[in-house]
Amino acid sequence: MSDTARRVEVYPGREAVVEFDPDLTFECVDDCTWCCHHGVLLYDRDLIELAERANLAETTTDFRGEKFVTREEKSREQHVAEDGHACAFLREDGLCTLHLEEDWKPTRCSVFPLGVYLEDGDLHVDIRDSAHDHCDGLNVSDRRVIDTLEAFLPEVLWDLENPDSDRAL
Ligand code: SF4
Ligand code: SF4
Repeated sequence: MSDTARRVEVYPGREAVVEFDPDLTFECVDDCTWCCHHGVLLYDRDLIELAERANLAETTTDFRGEKFVTREEKSREQHVAEDGHACAFLREDGLCTLHLEEDWKPTRCSVFPLGVYLEDGDLHVDIRDSAHDHCDGLNVSDRRVIDTLEAFLPEVLWDLENPDSDRAL
């Protein structure tokens, strides 16, 4: 735990150790879909919930023993990574099919631009390095992240053996 870290109760009895500047604000920027260009790690609970909403054989893939949402080639220039691929659920208009039609999205999609990791039994939360580099939503609004942590940190994170965000497709 760093000198500037502070404990915040996000749910009753569920604390996170906040490692980022408490004055950090965030608001997702329209038309930026950078974080949807990648394959999203699916925790076990996400897999069960996704199975109720989509065909797992078509939309997930295995990588290093874990499940991720598939990246697929898109026939468009907008809302894709440099290789022309993006998350299988990212629509042509830059919106998420799961979020729009199912009012649900995988845990990891809620967490970004934050990242989480376990240390000495505590759930720590910080800004992901890739967000510092690519997320345009940091410090562009008056919505302090530390005041709305439940929007970023689904409660399931406290039950995971390994919630570490540092795993990508
Ligand atoms: S599931 Fe939706 S929110 Fe998550 S990366 Fe894919 S398009 Fe983006
Ligand atoms: S990278 Fe940041 S601003 Fe861009 S879509 Fe993701 S959360 Fe929003």
